[in-house]
Amino acid sequence: MTNNLTGKTALVTGSTSGIGRATALKLAAVGAHVIVSGRDAQRGDATVASIRDAGGKADFVAADLSKAGSVHKLAEQALGLAGGRIDILVNNAGVFPFGPTTEVSDTDLDTVAAVNIKAPFLLVAALVPAMTANGGGAIVNVTTMVASFGMAGMALYGASKAALQLLTKSWAAEFGPGGVRVNAVSPGPTRTEGTVGMGEGLDQLAATTPAGRPGNPEDVADAIVFLASEQAKHIHGVVLPVDGGRLAV
Ligand code: NAP
Repeated sequence: MTNNLTGKTALVTGSTSGIGRATALKLAAVGAHVIVSGRDAQRGDATVASIRDAGGKADFVAADLSKAGSVHKLAEQALGLAGGRIDILVNNAGVFPFGPTTEVSDTDLDTVAAVNIKAPFLLVAALVPAMTANGGGAIVNVTTMVASFGMAGMALYGASKAALQLLTKSWAAEFGPGGVRVNAVSPGPTRTEGTVGMGEGLDQLAATTPAGRPGNPEDVADAIVFLASEQAKHIHGVVLPVDGGRLAV
């Protein structure tokens, strides 16, 4: 197996649901010890149980990424559980309150900035030093297709993920020489617990893509695992669309 991650440790934020959970399951299936994280302990424990039942290694750490103190604690606890070294960080957790700019509340503005930008920033700052000291690592950020073009109702969300896309390139430049590769995946409409509320809107959005249908969490997870693995050893600073081709047309 070319992307064997036996002996590696991975922290996946937002792995109690959707794309993050699918990523945690796939990383564990190829041998990584996965630190599962989110606010919901019940869903976190269920993800850990699925991994362990399949013979993999995982632990859950509860964290609310809208609070800086909780992010710092997550980094500390994850390092503790992983023996002082996280080889792979997947900044997947995200919030996406859609709606007109005129109706965005101060609270939503603060939460989107905290979860989608500040938390990945703090985790990278906390975890990269140990990666570099250990000879390298891989970071994969999860952005969105609407970080690359304008769509009504998605200004705040798209802008937050556009910031994460530039951070991806900035960090690739900053940490690549130390052996830490930083890349991103940019999903299009994907069927997850988080998009259930969009109803047929998700299918309508996906109908505008060459694939013509929404993706599955596993489609995005496969791309994340690839970018985290040795197979991607010469790939730095890319934003890989997993969007059914939406950005191509
Ligand atoms: P989801 O099913 O709603 O899952 C979101 C995850 O983020 C959950 O595990 C949730 O955990 C975690 N999370 C949310 N707020 C958090 C907070 N304050 N603190 C800690 N964890 C928090 O979403 P998804 O659809 O899989 O999306 C995953 C990522 O893909 C997001 O970054 C999203 O922007 C991006 N994306 C999704 C789509 C799509 O169509 N689904 C498209 C483009 C991009 P808890 O609830 O346990 O806290």
